[in-house]
Amino acid sequence: MGIPLLDLSAQYQTIKEEINQAVAEVLESARFILGPQVQTFEQEIAAYCGVREGVGVANGTDALMLTLRALGIGPGDEVITTPFTFFASAETISQVGARPVFADIDPQTLNMDLNQWAEKITPRTKAVIGVHIFGQMFDVERVKSIAQQHNLKVIEDAAQAIGAEYRGAKAGSLGDAGIFSFFPTKNLGGYGDGGMIVTSDPALADALRMLRFHGCRTKYYHEQIGYNSRLDELQAAILRVKLRYLDAWNAARREKARVYDEAFAGSGLVPQGCDPLAQPTYHLYVLRTAKRQELMDALAAADIASAIYYPVPLHLQTAYRDLGYQAGDFPVAEEVCRQALAIPCYPELTSAQQRKIVQTIKEVEAFGG
Ligand SMILES: *Cc1c(COP(=O)(O)O)cnc(C)c1O
Repeated sequence: MGIPLLDLSAQYQTIKEEINQAVAEVLESARFILGPQVQTFEQEIAAYCGVREGVGVANGTDALMLTLRALGIGPGDEVITTPFTFFASAETISQVGARPVFADIDPQTLNMDLNQWAEKITPRTKAVIGVHIFGQMFDVERVKSIAQQHNLKVIEDAAQAIGAEYRGAKAGSLGDAGIFSFFPTKNLGGYGDGGMIVTSDPALADALRMLRFHGCRTKYYHEQIGYNSRLDELQAAILRVKLRYLDAWNAARREKARVYDEAFAGSGLVPQGCDPLAQPTYHLYVLRTAKRQELMDALAAADIASAIYYPVPLHLQTAYRDLGYQAGDFPVAEEVCRQALAIPCYPELTSAQQRKIVQTIKEVEAFGG
């Protein structure tokens, strides 16, 4: 039996009865869009994060796009973000007509380099989208202290970081807004698409509620041009069940990451670095090696899944040719894209499976075999 990168079937088996019951309740209720499940789930996520408001939307990408729209960001504006992330972190900036401006990353944490990003601020800059990559939080307060001097909004892309903490504060709660994705493979994943914005700014939440619902406060009275972008009742009901397990699942991931960290110490494999003030979610356990292909081949031969996150930094994506960036512009992000590999690190991974993974890697000559 092979070892996958993530095992959602194994997870389902552990919560099957509760999930099936929650789904049946929604089907019986015949309320499918913007009903009590979504409203309660929004309140539960807001409380979990320690913020005032949660606004459920169709997916994490829309959560970012709608936040930029609600903040009035559009053509002529610039938004600073990292080139080492999932495409949506920058794509949404383009969707609203603004321009993504990239800043290189820190080679340890793989998050935006906090010593460098501010050099990218121009009179056109309106916001910064920081990404807690793989669930490792960056220091949002430090970004905010500079952002505030320039009147910039700070948006946390916490799609991979639900439940992560920095000095005890939850991911998503520190910026002007934070966004989550409930894509099935995320740490809190639905059985379909879903997303949410969290904020303590009631005016922003109000604007987002209108935008997700065709610009309406009251049905059929359209105050502006909006979107159809809603979390649905079925996903909310499923996610409410899963939210009860999130902390235990994240703790299990951290324990497995600790085992890997210890096993690979001194091996030449470099795991993503953790800021000592942060408590990560290990959405992915990613390590760096110049011998990535050897590592991938050895794992594949043992029927162990691994995956490259991310193969191409955003400034070198074909879709962003027009921005005029070149190879060499962000050397750290480019090198990390050549070296980073994710290995299985999910709550249901058994100790025996993890031992097999560690043993397989240690037998590779390059890593001390
Ligand atoms: C998954 C993800 C998104 C987008 O979320 P979707 O729900 O897939 O639209 C945005 N940013 C990051 C960093 C992600 O990992």
